[in-house]
Amino acid sequence: MRIANQQLIKDSNMKLLYSIVHQNRGISRTQLARMTRLSKTTVSTLVDELICRNFILDTGSSESENIGRRPNNLIIRPQSYYVIVLNWIVDIIFVSVVDIAGNSVYNKSCQLSPEETYLTLSRKCVDQLLDTRFSRECILGICVSVSAMIDAVHEEIYSTTLSLKKSDDINLIRELRHLFPAFPVAILEDTACYAYAEKVYTHIEEDNFAFINFGRGIGATIFINGMMLGNASGAVTQFGHYSPDFSGELCACGNRGCLETILSEHSIKRQLKTFGSSLLDLQEHITFSDLNKAALFGDYASLQLLSFMAEILAKATANLICIVNPDLIILGGSAPALGPIFLTEFRRFLSEYGFNKMVSSTSSRYSQLDSDACKNGAMKYFFDQHFSFAQNNAGAFWIG
Ligand SMILES: [Zn+2]
Repeated sequence: MRIANQQLIKDSNMKLLYSIVHQNRGISRTQLARMTRLSKTTVSTLVDELICRNFILDTGSSESENIGRRPNNLIIRPQSYYVIVLNWIVDIIFVSVVDIAGNSVYNKSCQLSPEETYLTLSRKCVDQLLDTRFSRECILGICVSVSAMIDAVHEEIYSTTLSLKKSDDINLIRELRHLFPAFPVAILEDTACYAYAEKVYTHIEEDNFAFINFGRGIGATIFINGMMLGNASGAVTQFGHYSPDFSGELCACGNRGCLETILSEHSIKRQLKTFGSSLLDLQEHITFSDLNKAALFGDYASLQLLSFMAEILAKATANLICIVNPDLIILGGSAPALGPIFLTEFRRFLSEYGFNKMVSSTSSRYSQLDSDACKNGAMKYFFDQHFSFAQNNAGAFWIG
């Protein structure tokens, strides 16, 4: 037990030092000791280990003429360690390699063929990366991110958007657990990854906030007192299946009128018809961006649909605010493509609905990150929550 505690303390201190060096390029050991209140000896020992293991760099010992010889200035060493992120979406796996400084250094889209499953294709993609691009030693772990509720108790995933085959469905989690025995592996819900990226990389100061992710489905992740509600398994909240209309359109989950049936991109074409003729009528597939542009151009049906979608989201969000009272609502994923009219309408309706005392003190904005920030969030969540400096976690497996 004592050794386990010592390992936890060492891991926690090394992560703290790494994180401070990340945020304060060029910091010295003395400043680190002052900021962390660790002893100078502890800081010196741990920093030496981080340098020795190639996580950080002492620019004072660097030979680079550009950096110069400034002793004791510490920076993180980019592109030395990576996390592989496999984002499973409909019929495709997006493979990304992200270094632990947050730089995405490899991105590839791999199409699922009829004879392949998510598991066989994931294994193939990782094997190719290890054969051709990255050494095994520089990969800290593998994250699989899915738009799904991941049930840790029954070891099952429930998704209304993934193209899971019958052969995938059975024992998927159990097989994933053993798919990459040489690495620690985590399966994470994509909305939680987006939300974590937003929290870390946009330096959110509010302790209580909700991140609503627009993708093929709709999801939400909530932070209370600075902590993610539940873990990153999507098992605590299914915002996309909140129904403001139980007599509405049938949802893939079996319920009716779920937010996903009203707010997701693939429902735009069906819904636009209910508002009369539109500039977009001839388009086979209509994106959020198309809808925004048509509305900005004055297309009546598009304006009406944007306003309707904003009202539905505002009603659902007003109810969410009554339950957890977040100070900030962030609309992320592909939501920013809905543009300024949608956000203005959302704010207007939100001010009209819900418990005024709470709703009036909640602000809202679009995500400030790219729509593919999920991979950065997955890497950072994995690094912060699961990676350990103090022990080798090869073969470990986490749900969320
Ligand atoms: Zn549903």
